[in-house]
Amino acid sequence: MEIPRKCIHCGTCQRVCPEAAISLVDGDFVIDRSQCRNCLRCVDVCYAESKELVGREMDADAVFKEIYKDRLYYELYGGGVTFSGGEPLTHPEFLTAITEKCKRFRINTAIETCGFGDYEAFKTALPYIDHIFFDLKHIDSAAHQQLTGAGNEEIIKNLNLISNHDIPITVRTPVVPGYNDSQENIIGIATLIKDIPAVKEYELLPYHNLGSGKYASLGRPYALGGTEPPAEEQIIQLVKLAGQILKPSGKQCFYTKKNKKEILL
Ligand code: SF4
Ligand code: SF4
Repeated sequence: MEIPRKCIHCGTCQRVCPEAAISLVDGDFVIDRSQCRNCLRCVDVCYAESKELVGREMDADAVFKEIYKDRLYYELYGGGVTFSGGEPLTHPEFLTAITEKCKRFRINTAIETCGFGDYEAFKTALPYIDHIFFDLKHIDSAAHQQLTGAGNEEIIKNLNLISNHDIPITVRTPVVPGYNDSQENIIGIATLIKDIPAVKEYELLPYHNLGSGKYASLGRPYALGGTEPPAEEQIIQLVKLAGQILKPSGKQCFYTKKNKKEILL
């Protein structure tokens, strides 16, 4: 990651880069990612931590050691571990190993997933998962393809297969203005999930742009630049619409405000 505000302009990173991938752009020492070979020399010499390595490889044992430190907290106050990503279902062996360890020590587990993965591979983890937060972004496959790069057939198929395992599921839709915030879309998703027994509730997540700074630090384009969060009145209307569809099946739709579920029906 590059965090220009921390830079003291010593120029050392530029001098040590073996690929000449760092140049001065508008007063900042910027990495040309197409030239970078990830040798991390610039990180090693940047005492100001303006260039920083984020993330590290860990095996399941090392991750579990970290989790285990909080075991007493979970026992006293509830809660547990949520595996998100990236996408946990694309790491089925790791997910199975780590969730199995958690269950052995009676630590609750949840995953946040977009539902895109190989069911035959990830189903080994399902016996060790207590709750699933399942993203469904668009009911129309062509629109889903445009939004995410993949259609929704595999995702809906996986939702149905996972629901056979009797794990409570919260379906979630991140509501992004201009992309998937139509009433038609939310009604379509609510109609799909109302008859899936394992789905207990439907949460609408109003889009926010808090992650845009991280994209800039990673030198990645932010596809939703310029998109504003939806108005609260719109979210309220969508929650009510979906709630009306779900209520006869004993399910609810909600959004979260100040850490509190707003159910509205
Ligand atoms: S080494 Fe760090 S502080 Fe020095 S110019 Fe490079 S980014 Fe800035
Ligand atoms: S990590 Fe990339 S930018 Fe940094 S010194 Fe190595 S090649 Fe250059």
